[in-house]
Order: sequence, then C-alpha cells, then structure tokens
Amino acid sequence: MKLLDGKKTSTEIKEEIKLKVTAIKTAGERVPHLAAVLVGDDGASLTYVGSKVRSCKYVGFESTLIRLEEDITEEALLLKIDELNQNENIDGYIVQLPLPKHINEERVLLAIDPKKDVDGFHPANFGRMALDLDAFIPATPFGIIQLLERYEVPTSGKHCLVVGRSHIVGRPISILMSQKGPAGDATVTLAHSRTQNLKSLTKQADIVVMALGIPEFLTADMVKEGVTVIDVGITRVADESHPKGYVIKGDVAFDEVAAKANYITPVPGGVGPMTIAMLLQNTLLAKQWNQS
Ligand code: NDP
Repeated sequence: MKLLDGKKTSTEIKEEIKLKVTAIKTAGERVPHLAAVLVGDDGASLTYVGSKVRSCKYVGFESTLIRLEEDITEEALLLKIDELNQNENIDGYIVQLPLPKHINEERVLLAIDPKKDVDGFHPANFGRMALDLDAFIPATPFGIIQLLERYEVPTSGKHCLVVGRSHIVGRPISILMSQKGPAGDATVTLAHSRTQNLKSLTKQADIVVMALGIPEFLTADMVKEGVTVIDVGITRVADESHPKGYVIKGDVAFDEVAAKANYITPVPGGVGPMTIAMLLQNTLLAKQWNQS
C-alpha cells in the first residue's frame, strides 16, 4: 500500500510556487495578490481563511483579508465584489462559503469576475473546464488530480467511481477524470444518495473517490484488492479524550480499507492540504493569464 501524502505533496507544490514568486520579484514585478472575503465570524470559516492567508505569506504572495459583518446586506456585499473586480492590484479572490442565509450565494458567485475566480465556482470557469479549455479548476478536485499525477497512479482505462455529486468536489472530479490526459482517461461512474446498490459499484471500481461527508462510510468489504481510494470527507466527530473535543474523520474506514488498497489518501493529511496549495496555484495562474 502506498500512501498518497497530501501534506508532503502540498509542501512540494508550495516550494515550487515560492521559487516562481522569487523569480517574479527578481524580475522587478508585482507578486501575486489573493484576497479573501469573510462574512461573519463562523469558527470553521475563520480557520479555513486563516490558513489560506498564512499560506499566501509562506509562498511570498500578498494577501488581503476582508472581514464583513454577519448582517451586511446583499447589495453592500455586491458592491465589495465589484470593487475587487475593479482593483488591478488583486489577481484573484475568494468569497468564503457558506454565506449568511439572507444573502443569495448564487448571485454573489455570479458577480465574481471569472478572470479572478480562483475558486473556479463561476459557471464560466466550470463550463470552460468541462470543455477542456484553460480554466480555474476548483481547488479540491485540482488537488486530487495533482496527487494522482505526481504519484503516477494509473487511471487510463480504469473504472473510477465518484461518490457525491456536489458542484465543488464530486461533479468536477468526475468530469476531470473522464477527460483525456494525465490522471484522466478513466471510465467514470458518479454515485449519489439515490444510487441503488452502491456496494456493487464500489466493489468493482479500480478507483473510488469518496466525497459525501459521512465518517467511515467506505469499509473493507465494499472494495476490491488493489483499489485506489481518495478520501475527500472531513467531518468533526466529538471525542472528549481529545484536547479539542473532536477528531477529524474521513469518509473511509482507513485502517481496514488501507489493508486492501494499492494507493490511499489519509485524513487528515491527504486531500485537505492539497486544496490550499491549488488555490495558491490558481492565484499564480490568475496573475499570469491576466497579464498576457
Ligand atoms: P455535499 O454535502 O455538497 O454533497 C454530498 C454528496 O454526497 C451529495 O451528492 C449526496 O447525494 C451524496 N450522498 C450523501 N449521502 C449519500 C449516501 N448515503 N450514498 C451516496 N451518496 C451520498 O458535500 P461536499 O461535496 O461539499 O463535501 C463532501 C465532503 O468533503 C464533506 O465531508 C466536506 O467537509 C468534505 N470537503 C473536503 C474538502 C477538502 O479540502 N478536503 C473540500 C470540500 C469538501 P445527493 O446529491 O443525492 O444529496
């Protein structure tokens, strides 16, 4: 069994980005600049945004965190988005989700200039991605593709089962893995909560991508020997014996599934760290694409 180590791979990617930033500085150019908009003070969102900002510092990017009150109106938020679209010093930005209930998330995401949409959630980017054109690929599926590519996991002609059809993980990874090229050329099945007899599908899959958010859902009896398992799930499970009062669990019963797998991602330390690295990669791309 080989561990697909997202922590190590994401560090390698960040080091590569760091070198590119040094070259940009040496050439006397402005370094890439990522902005993050955070509405309200949800604990998990604060943690995610905090680590995105820290990662920017690490690679030498400029970063701006825009914190807005929980009760901001949709119009005021849209004005902020417009400012960011106009600001020539900002290469890309993200709006941390979820937004408060009184704000229409779709309206906000549609207002983001696709050229600055480093999360890759705008329909223009999603459409371009689906058509094999240059696009910002959502960071989590982009990270999965990088892991498969860098570990040279065979995907061509393999049967890949993706469990979960969300717009940010399941749907895009199912598209990417069915496309031509590295980490692609797979025969993809996309499963969801209405799928019947899921176990018969997981058992025949060469690659299983789990993105549903149910801790330890995939067990050893559901997979075949030699399977590749990508675990996207991140769920906080209460655990009083832990100082934080919880532990992070993936969608895979790791120990028992790892015993049958050829390749597997751990949780934590698998897909999670790759997501931030790929957000940085998209910001670097934003600067390069918008300049040319
Ligand atoms: P969503 O909740 O948006 O989607 C979950 C999907 O799982 C849905 O398509 C749902 O089906 C499907 N599903 C739910 N129950 C079952 C079931 N019993 N059998 C088959 N399919 C089922 O989740 P996300 O894609 O946003 O996130 C999934 C997990 O990944 C979460 O734990 C999340 O925290 C984590 N995540 C991790 C990231 C990372 O950086 N590592 C980034 C993003 C998410 P239906 O459509 O029919 O409802």
